[in-house]
Amino acid sequence: MLQRDLAAEEYCLSKSTLPSSICEEIFNYTTNNIPRSTMLIGPLGGSLLGFLTASIRAKRILEIGSYTGYSALCMAEHLPDNGELITLDISEETTQVGKKFWKKSPHGKKIKLILGPALETLENLSGSFDFILIDADKTNYLAYLRRSLELLSPHGIIALDNCLWGGSVFDPSIHDADTKALREVADWVKSRDDLTSLLLPIRDGILLVQKRNKS
Ligand code: SAH
Ligand code: CA
Repeated sequence: MLQRDLAAEEYCLSKSTLPSSICEEIFNYTTNNIPRSTMLIGPLGGSLLGFLTASIRAKRILEIGSYTGYSALCMAEHLPDNGELITLDISEETTQVGKKFWKKSPHGKKIKLILGPALETLENLSGSFDFILIDADKTNYLAYLRRSLELLSPHGIIALDNCLWGGSVFDPSIHDADTKALREVADWVKSRDDLTSLLLPIRDGILLVQKRNKS
């Protein structure tokens, strides 16, 4: 990251309401102990998720890709007491870490983890969800998005993390499967008249998607 971008991120963080200290503990623990911690949505992303959760008064949230439970808790903290967050992952190992931290938070009881390949789990879920975070394997993003649109409440929001993929998506010399999948999903959203979108350059790019309001 450029020096100027780093300074800008620092400044943004200093002027934002950040996720709780337990979220920060998860972030630090993961960064120091768990492989592939760059997958975390990060404090500014977590702050955005919490802000959106509170703004739309979400009651039911779906997350695809739990990892060590960071983004899940960032959102659950802004759900009402009777709110629910269902999070999906295939990894027993990283989600065990998440469970330990969730137990320490008064908001952890709102989180329900379902282990297994997310595409299969999604088939058995029924709507509706006010907010959906897509953040698992990139090659399935389009399939996750299609199913998420079926499960989304009419005014709900879908967020897809890592849509800049370290800048690969706008580097025409890069053609690996993940990069192609992320370009494809962004193109697909942009081509749909019934959807509105906003790609935010926060950390690795967060794409927000909503159904176009006809009324
Ligand atoms: N949202 C998290 C980070 C998720 S990292 C945060 O910001 O805190 C991506 C996760 O997707 C990993 O934990 C990985 O195990 C999971 N994953 C990868 N392929 C999957 C699949 N097919 N089904 C479910 N989860 C999957
Ligand atoms: Ca991510």
